[in-house]
Amino acid sequence: MPVKASDIQKMLPEYGRKNCKECGLATCFAFAMKVANAGIVLEKCTHLSVENRAQLEEILQPPIRQVVIGQGARAVIVGEEEVMHRHQKTFFRPPGFALLVSDTDSDDILSARLAKLSWTMERLEKVSRFDLLALRCGSGDSKRYSALVLKVMTATDAGLILLADSADCLLSAYEACRGRNPLVCVTAGNYAKVMPYLDKSTAVCVRASSLEEVEKLADKLKELGFENLVLDPGSRTLADLVRDQTVIRRAALRHKFRPFGYPTLFSAAETAFDPERQLLPAAAGIAKYAGIIVLDDVSQQAFQALLTVRQDIYTDPRVAPTVEGKVYAFNAADESAAVLVTTNFALTYYAVAGEVENSKLPVYLLCQDTGGLCVLAAWSTGKFVPEIIAETVKKHKMADKVTSKRLVIPGYVARIKGDLEDELPDWEIIVGPQEAADLPKFLHKLKNIATVQPKT
Ligand code: SF4
Repeated sequence: MPVKASDIQKMLPEYGRKNCKECGLATCFAFAMKVANAGIVLEKCTHLSVENRAQLEEILQPPIRQVVIGQGARAVIVGEEEVMHRHQKTFFRPPGFALLVSDTDSDDILSARLAKLSWTMERLEKVSRFDLLALRCGSGDSKRYSALVLKVMTATDAGLILLADSADCLLSAYEACRGRNPLVCVTAGNYAKVMPYLDKSTAVCVRASSLEEVEKLADKLKELGFENLVLDPGSRTLADLVRDQTVIRRAALRHKFRPFGYPTLFSAAETAFDPERQLLPAAAGIAKYAGIIVLDDVSQQAFQALLTVRQDIYTDPRVAPTVEGKVYAFNAADESAAVLVTTNFALTYYAVAGEVENSKLPVYLLCQDTGGLCVLAAWSTGKFVPEIIAETVKKHKMADKVTSKRLVIPGYVARIKGDLEDELPDWEIIVGPQEAADLPKFLHKLKNIATVQPKT
């Protein structure tokens, strides 16, 4: 829940009534308002006491801390979620998918696994892929583990997660990749030996086997000055996953329980499920708050299914999904192509584009920018009406792209045909089907129908 400006004001000098203007604002309340909206830093008030500043910094912290793993364009940012349920606002940080490899993998297996890092999926104009690489030390040999770290660093610039029981193995691997800002996973058994050698800014995953243990260890690490924590309560079944993640999220958001105010990690790779069946707990992890999900060997199809689920859940429900409003060419569209017009609502576009591709006929699909409204909603709000469609046809110079000027409109707006003919007198306006699934048949039929002389 956001902090109220009135609560901040009470902690400013003279109970927020000093109003000296030295911060550049007219009153302390104006300053408090800006602080509440993260529009100004507390340091701008030079009269603020050290105690009150510390207290304010504490209450202004987001309920779930932001943690960054990796660096540059491949950095993965987790945390900072604000709601329990997506429909309350939106989920902000899609969980990072980490592919698991081990220093006990043979060269062939390792190469096959690393090849998966090049899998990509483009959907809704966004490219998704593995975000992180989780490196397991299965050998217990620090040299062998460090060699794996060095090897994968030459193969990928993805962020790294270090998973080793032995403190020596963790530390030698950390030294090898500390410039990559890795996530170092520690347990109650090794943290005392590991933490003195880590930078305080290091992202550290607290691994335990219960919520109670993870809370205790997170507290200890915080006392040692580590703030960039990720929690892994050791959930290894579907039921445990849902319970643990829900408890952590609820405690952080509703009760501001600081030991749980961090993003989480869920290792689907370490559940009892076989690689293909990891899909189930991993998909539950996406819906139920996991910040990072570690996957064992998955097939490309299974991974694409997870990427799709992630994108759907982490799409802002307040914003209609859109594609760019422009002309899309299909099946080597040339001057013989038919011209179809629709809106830039992503779901409409993908339904129409799929069927147009299936038709194997050359088509130009003109997507009118309606701000993501579907055909009927756009028509009823005046964003998909004859004057605007005609303007878009002219703007994209569609008449220069095709020889027979036939413009196919969606069946749902058949009623605009007459007015559109008036707006585009050189074009033959044809009413298409209402359902995208009927497009291939319709387009083949259209191909065999002679062009009708348009009105002059
Ligand atoms: S500098 Fe501090 S005391 Fe002065 S007006 Fe700003 S907030 Fe108030």
